[in-house]
Amino acid sequence: MMELPLYANIEEVSADALGCRACGRAETRAQVVFGAGNRDADLMIVGEAPSATDDSTGLPYTGPAGEVLDELLAEAGTQRDAVWITNLLRCFEGRRRDGRLENQPARTSEIRACSRWLNLEIQYVKPRVIVAMGSPAAHALISPEFKLTEQRGTAHRRSDGTQVIATTQPAYVMRLVNLADRETAERERERLVADLQRAVELATGPA
Ligand code: SF4
Repeated sequence: MMELPLYANIEEVSADALGCRACGRAETRAQVVFGAGNRDADLMIVGEAPSATDDSTGLPYTGPAGEVLDELLAEAGTQRDAVWITNLLRCFEGRRRDGRLENQPARTSEIRACSRWLNLEIQYVKPRVIVAMGSPAAHALISPEFKLTEQRGTAHRRSDGTQVIATTQPAYVMRLVNLADRETAERERERLVADLQRAVELATGPA
C-alpha cells in the first residue's frame, strides 16, 4: 500500500533523510546522499549506492561514473537536469580490495532499511518510468528473480503504474574499458544507451 504523505514536498523528505541512522552505513558515511535533479521528472534513475566521490560532494553519480552517465543520458536524448537521480542506498561504505578503495555492495538489510527513502522519492517525484541500474536495483524494483542478462531493456509495470526498465551500471562500461576490452565496452555502451533511449521514449510518449 502507498505510504500516506508525511511531508509537504521532496525537500522536506530530503531534510529528514539527512539525519537517518537506520542502518550501519550511518557509521561509514561522511554525509547522506539523497536523490537530486528535477523534482517533476518523468524519468528516475536508480543506482545502487553513493560512490566515494558522491560521499564528499553530497550528490549522486558525481565523479567518473557520473561523467559517463551524463554522456549516456545525452546520447539517449536527455540530460541530468531533466531527470531525478538516486540510489537504493543513500550512504557510502567502502572496502579495500587489491589496495584499491571500492564500493561495498549493498546488503539486503540495508536495501530494506533504505527503501523508506526510495519509496518516498518515487511517491513525491512521481516518475512515469524508472531506470534500474544494475542487478540490485532491478531485484528491488522489479523482482528478486529478475535476470539482467536476459531481461534488460524490457518494461515492467509496478503496482503503482510506474514502468521500470533495467540496464547495467555505467561503472560496468568503465571496468571493461579499464580491462582494455574496448570492443565489449563499446558494445555494452551501445546497449546501455539503447536501454536509456527506450526509457526516455516511454517517459515522454503518450500515457
Ligand atoms: S543507507 Fe539509507 S537507511 Fe542506511 S543510514 Fe543511510 S539513509 Fe539511512
